[in-house]
Amino acid sequence: MEKQTEKNDVVDGDERERDIIVKESFSIFIKKNLLIILLLTALVLGCSLGFILRLATDIEFTDDQVEYILFPGVLFLNMLKVLIIPLIVSSLISGMANLDQQASGKLGARAVIYYFSTTAIAVILGIIMVVTIQPGNVADDEDIDRIGTSEPVDTADAFMDLLRNIFPPNIVEACLKTYKTRQVETDDMDMDDMNETEEAVMYKSVGGFEDKSNILGIVVFSVAFGIVLGRMKEGGDPLRAFFNSLNEAVMQLVKIVIWVSPIGIFFLIMGKIIEMDDWAKMFSQIGMYMVTVIAGLSIHGIIILPLIYFVCVRKNPYRFLSGVTPALMTAFGTASSSATLPLTINCLEEHNHVDKRVTRFVLPIGATINMDGTALYEAVAAIFIAQVNGIDLDFKDIITISITATLASVGAAGVPQAGLVTMVIVLNAVGLPAEDVTLILVIDWFLDRIRTTVNVEGDSFGAGIIAHLCRKDLASVDAATDVDKLPSKHEYTNGGYDEPTFINLDDDDTKF
Ligand code: ASP
Repeated sequence: MEKQTEKNDVVDGDERERDIIVKESFSIFIKKNLLIILLLTALVLGCSLGFILRLATDIEFTDDQVEYILFPGVLFLNMLKVLIIPLIVSSLISGMANLDQQASGKLGARAVIYYFSTTAIAVILGIIMVVTIQPGNVADDEDIDRIGTSEPVDTADAFMDLLRNIFPPNIVEACLKTYKTRQVETDDMDMDDMNETEEAVMYKSVGGFEDKSNILGIVVFSVAFGIVLGRMKEGGDPLRAFFNSLNEAVMQLVKIVIWVSPIGIFFLIMGKIIEMDDWAKMFSQIGMYMVTVIAGLSIHGIIILPLIYFVCVRKNPYRFLSGVTPALMTAFGTASSSATLPLTINCLEEHNHVDKRVTRFVLPIGATINMDGTALYEAVAAIFIAQVNGIDLDFKDIITISITATLASVGAAGVPQAGLVTMVIVLNAVGLPAEDVTLILVIDWFLDRIRTTVNVEGDSFGAGIIAHLCRKDLASVDAATDVDKLPSKHEYTNGGYDEPTFINLDDDDTKF
């Protein structure tokens, strides 16, 4: 009897212990994944509430009401946007200045090879999808609602603007303004500087600065400045310490703003769904086009990019991806890779433990020029427009579309619907009607969110791959540096600045 009670006590004790372990591991799981859980909840709640308010009630929302609903989301966007320039400048300068010339050269070369090869794969995939599915042959031009108007663009001007913006004349102005050449109607009959359209409307190129930060110019200037600073030895120490410290301070701000993202995303998504046009009508008009773009982006994001990561790194790509989920959700919610940049850097460093020298060098450049999703979308959209118009494209046109779609994705800023603007360059290059971008405008807000998510995913995998390929070079930089001064082997040389632990999302879970 006594023995039986003893046995029962042991069993009870075991169960209690198991209960405690289960509870503890549950609370560890919640703690580790709190941000992702909050973001998922925000996404699901935002979508459901948006659909309920839009479809299940008779409420007709006025523009003002939609603006009020979007308002908290807009504030969140502003919190991210205000960080973009300080983050890009300090990350790139400190990233480059803390690398030796050889290591930064190798890192840069590998980044460029990764960017161009993955963008080319995305374009080829887009072309295969659109040629196979033929979405333009099921859609009828007459049935599709056109939204807005499109501006005429001159391809040569567009490329010259890209170069002008790469080398801005004034770095302070570059924080506020971007150069853009517009085609304006003119009565001036001087044929030298005029383009004649079919309707015999005369256009003249007029260039000037418009209110939009020139991120590309800032990136190029910061890289050049960082390289020079890196070569300055002791003479550059004060500036290096300044930018290292600035960079850490901005990253601490990022860690705070991250916790606002579930609220911001909830309101952004809900407001957008309330604001949207009739889904059923939209789908019946250009449903196959949507399917083609989404299928292409899904194949690239779910199969191709993970496969490239697996081949290069030999680690589980989906586990890597789970570490950047908050950034991917923010990309979907904001439709801006630049606004998502602070989160992308944070997720890769905190969750995936990617070397800071790589993330802070590769990600700001990637968010500005590496846009696989945009390139794929531009190729699909251009060929879709040709199909709708019954225009046959030959092999030369397809090659032109591939090249211009790649360049147009490099030129597109990491802001909502930038791809739609550079799309006109692709259409122009193969003589397709540029005004036909109005055919796909109706659905662009949605496709933009998916392609931005793929853009951010491409940048993230890129950082992981480059960090892996450059691990030996980085280790030899570590060995050559006075190791005692470094906070830890993998911590980068930030002038002996000890990184304070602030909000640590995850300690060590993505070492696979
Ligand atoms: N919104 C995209 C981005 O920020 C650019 C685009 O419009 O394709 O990455």
